[in-house]
Formats: sequence, structure tokens, C-alpha cells
Amino acid sequence: MKQYDYLIVGAGFYGAVFAHEAHKRGCKCLVIDKRNHIGGNAYTEEVNRINVHKYGVHVFHTANKKVWDYLNAFTTFNHFVLSPVANYKGELYNLPFNMNTFCQLWKVRTPAEAMAKIEEQTKEFASITHPANLEEQALVLAGREVYEKLIKGYSEKQWGVKATEIPAFVIRRLPFRFTYDNNYFNDPYQGIPIGGYTRLFGKLLKGVEVQLGQDFLLNKKAYLNKAGKVVYTGSMDAYFDYCYGSLGYRSLRFDHQLLAGIDNFQGVAQMNYTDPAVPYTRILEHKHFELGKQPDTVITYEYPTTWQQGDEPYYPINDAANTALYEKYKLLAQQESNVIFGGRLAEYKCYDMDKVIERALTYFENER
Ligand SMILES: Cc1cc2nc3c(=O)[nH]c(=O)nc-3n(C[C@H](O)[C@H](O)[C@H](O)COP(=O)(O)OP(=O)(O)OC[C@H]3O[C@@H](n4cnc5c(N)ncnc54)[C@H](O)[C@@H]3O)c2cc1C
Repeated sequence: MKQYDYLIVGAGFYGAVFAHEAHKRGCKCLVIDKRNHIGGNAYTEEVNRINVHKYGVHVFHTANKKVWDYLNAFTTFNHFVLSPVANYKGELYNLPFNMNTFCQLWKVRTPAEAMAKIEEQTKEFASITHPANLEEQALVLAGREVYEKLIKGYSEKQWGVKATEIPAFVIRRLPFRFTYDNNYFNDPYQGIPIGGYTRLFGKLLKGVEVQLGQDFLLNKKAYLNKAGKVVYTGSMDAYFDYCYGSLGYRSLRFDHQLLAGIDNFQGVAQMNYTDPAVPYTRILEHKHFELGKQPDTVITYEYPTTWQQGDEPYYPINDAANTALYEKYKLLAQQESNVIFGGRLAEYKCYDMDKVIERALTYFENER
């Protein structure tokens, strides 16, 4: 007899939703996380009554009504709509690229004028029929001015290499919108959980045993023996002790600052810095995610960094070499018959939160 039906490694969305569903079905579950909190990367921490997104901006958005309804049983979402502003050497532009952006760039007023301007800007790159990298792709789609001011610097900081070394597929299409609409997402459902994400995770994990500050990999054999099945949401290469080498990731450094007595620092939740000379990619101002009126504010500078073993692997780099390496690890994973590999790290995909929740729920649908 095993001590638990499920040992769940990771208290992020995949682990928490999985644990909730298993617990609901009468299974005995243990959730462990090496961090000292639940919530994974969506974790929020309250500072001066402001919920701070400790691992970067997390805006919930989805087109999946089932996932939306599911989460609404645990939280109420506010009506926040992500509308970032780009800052290029002090010039401000609305994102995503829409009529406001085109008006700010070129003083055009109508969709026809904007389309004509884009056509004029892209004309000289018409001979590039098969863009070989992000730079060529962006020039073909948007022309030099949009590329230089809004795409090049940001992308190079984000990925840590020249735009000519970033694969073209990163921007197969540019979401140009010929309406005055600054909503970053196209999904019908969007918002921030009122009271923060951590409270939502507390509800998902109600009644489930949780042990924090526990690294599964430091005691892997003992943990594998504890439960009938293990759900692993950490990195796939780490699980196998990097036996084929490391997968590629980008990491991030967050500089959180409480600005006491300042009630409004930048007037927007997210400002992207697209100038390559500025070392960070964005500044978040957390109170605006929750439409807050507190007397203080908390801001976060986000710096992309090179990943090395031991750093937090925030973004999988899904290029051809890493995809091939991941496929090798996947063959090993298939031999671990009692382990379910799920979530963003174990599946090595830049899933948004809704997708991760959908995948955890699908496991139980398939089980029936
Ligand atoms: C900077 C950033 C911004 C994002 N913004 C958005 C957004 O605006 N909207 C959106 O929908 N999605 C966003 N995402 C994606 C979102 O974070 C993920 O979809 C979601 O967090 C994935 O959940 P998960 O459970 O798979 O992984 P995680 O949230 O990463 O949770 C995995 C957990 O496993 C734990 N763990 C790993 N290894 C071990 C181990 N060996 N032992 C014990 N515990 C372990 C980790 O500590 C972690 O808590 C963003 C991601 C990043 C990095």
C-alpha cells in the first residue's frame, strides 16, 4: 500500500488543478513545491495592500468558456484589460499595433491611410519571399520604422541574441488591428482574480496536504515510492538529471520596488521599453492590474537573463535543436509508467495559464 494515491510535484496551475480534481474524486494527494509558497509563477504577494505579481505580469485571458467557468467557481475576476504602452526613447506608443499606434507613428487617421503607409514601408522588402529570421520577417510584415522602434530592441533583449539569429516563426503574423482598440488580447474572457492569485490557489488546494520548501529531485526515489502515481510539473531535463544535456531556457530577474507615498508611477500596468539601450524590457505597476486606489505603489523592473542550471527556467526556447532534444527526453518519460509529466516546464511549451488548466482537466476527462 502506498501512502498517497498522487504525489503532485509543483503547486502551480497544473499541480493545483490536478490536486483539486483528484481530491474531489476521493484520492489521497500530497502536493510538494520547492518554493516556499503555492501558486507557481502566478503567485502574488500582498505588499501594502497591493497584490504583487512576483514572477512577472499574469493576466488571465481565455477563449475557453469551460476553463473560465471553472475558475469563476474559485474567484471573481475584475474587468482589467491589458493595454500596454511601448516606450521608445521617450516616445510612447499603444500596443498591440492598432490605429492608435499608427496615428502616433505617422499621424494617419483612417484605416485606409494606415494600410497605405504600411504598404509603403514594406514595399522595399517585397523581394524577401522566405524570411530567414525575425528581422526579415518583421521587415516584410511591418517595414523598417515599426521594426526599428517597436520590435528589434525588445526582441533582442528578450531572447539575448541579434534579431537575425531569432527564428522567423516567433512572429509569423503581426497582430495589426485597424481599429482604435488597445486590448492586447482577442479572447472574450479576461481579468485578474480579485484578492490576488494566491487566494485562488488556496481555494483550489483546500483540504489537500501541501508541503512547501521540498525539492522532489533531492529525494526522488523516496518520493516515487510514496504514491501510486506521481504528477511532475518541473523541468523535463532536470527530472532526468540532464542526461542528454540541458534544454534551452531564458530566465528573468525581477527588481521589485515599493514606492511609498507615490500613488501612481507610470499610469499603466505595463510599459514595454523597446530601446536596446535600456537594460530592462518592461516596468510593471501592480496596483493598476487591480484598478487599485492605494496611497503607495509597487513597481517591478523585468530584466531578461541568460539561463544556467540552477536558475529559474521561465521561457522554453522552442527552436529546432531544443525541440529535437525534448523529443529524446520524451522517450525516456514514456518509460516512467507511474509518472504524469504535465504543465509548462514538463511539456516544454510556452503555455498560458488557461491552456495549463485545460490540460490538467483533460487528464480527468480522459480517465473516465
Ligand atoms: C514572466 C511570465 C509571464 C507570464 N504571463 C502570463 C500571462 O499574462 N497570462 C497567462 O495566461 N500566462 C502567463 N504566463 C504563463 C504562466 O506562468 C503559466 O502558464 C503557468 O504558470 C504554468 O503553470 P504550471 O503549473 O505548468 O507551472 P509553474 O507555474 O511554473 O509551476 C511549477 C511549480 O513546480 C515547482 N517545481 C519545479 N521543480 C520542482 C521540484 N524539483 N520539486 C518541487 N517543486 C518543483 C516550481 O517551484 C513551481 O512552483 C507567464 C509566464 C511567465 C514566465
